[in-house]
Amino acid sequence: MDLVTRVFRIPLKTRFRRLTERTGVLLQGPYGWGEFSPFPDYGPDIAVRWLHAALESATSEWPAPLRASIPVNVTVPAVDPQGAHDIVAQSSCSTAKVKVAEPGGLREDEARVEAVRDALGPKGKLRVDANGAWTVDEAERAIKVLDRHELEYVEQPVASLEDMAALRRSVDVPLAADESVRRAEDPLRVAGLEAADIVVLKVQPLGGVGRALEVAEAAGLPCVVSSAVETSVGIAAGLALAARLPALPYACGLATLELLEGDVTTDSLLPVGGMIPVRRPEPNVDLLERWRAADDTTERELARLRAAEARL
Ligand SMILES: [Mg+2]
Repeated sequence: MDLVTRVFRIPLKTRFRRLTERTGVLLQGPYGWGEFSPFPDYGPDIAVRWLHAALESATSEWPAPLRASIPVNVTVPAVDPQGAHDIVAQSSCSTAKVKVAEPGGLREDEARVEAVRDALGPKGKLRVDANGAWTVDEAERAIKVLDRHELEYVEQPVASLEDMAALRRSVDVPLAADESVRRAEDPLRVAGLEAADIVVLKVQPLGGVGRALEVAEAAGLPCVVSSAVETSVGIAAGLALAARLPALPYACGLATLELLEGDVTTDSLLPVGGMIPVRRPEPNVDLLERWRAADDTTERELARLRAAEARL
């Protein structure tokens, strides 16, 4: 690969997906920068899609945007109720996504959701994300409890599409498929099984903006664009996708830079008034140096890049 590569390591403010830091490789090509940051437990067969997305960003033009700014939600990780309240109160967003099905159990999940509803007020929109951690029975019970605080939708309450379909027949709250939609054929299965009301699109896991747009079209359902907790380089690709979708009825999950201790640009893609303007900031030389990974991490990340490249 002839592109310039920069390996980064940025700590997370709060544990997320059992991670304490985000690491990855930024690639600079003729069309700009792309981000390759597959989660550490992903092997090359999965990481190749993330690489495809990074290469698309660096070596081709994104489709022209249909809108100039994207409404976004604030994300609330598994923190205590006061912490959750503060995160929402300090954000400019009127939609919040709360992580649930966390080790603290339903009681702590509900306390967190209640605090977020309090901070949002009755007009705010509140969605929860279980990352597929519940069984169908647990999800039924949890959704009943959490919906006392008026849920907009529940993201990936259970892991399999079959379970999503079964659950969807027994609850009234809309369900969103996230982890269930990663391969090109997945959206057709979601639609065929009537397993979800909404599809969550992420640029890197789906292999790029172009492929994600194809997934959206195949699913034929309303879509929400979310990040994979990326730097502003990865978020910019998410904005390009959200800006190009024919319809965008829900706030997107692209306001995730607050989860990181830092960013690679001085012009971070942060929300203003609950919206992120569609743009593509340039990484800053000093910040690339500030977050440059140590030698062992760099070697590991470049080895992952090469392994993924071999699968292209
Ligand atoms: Mg999710």
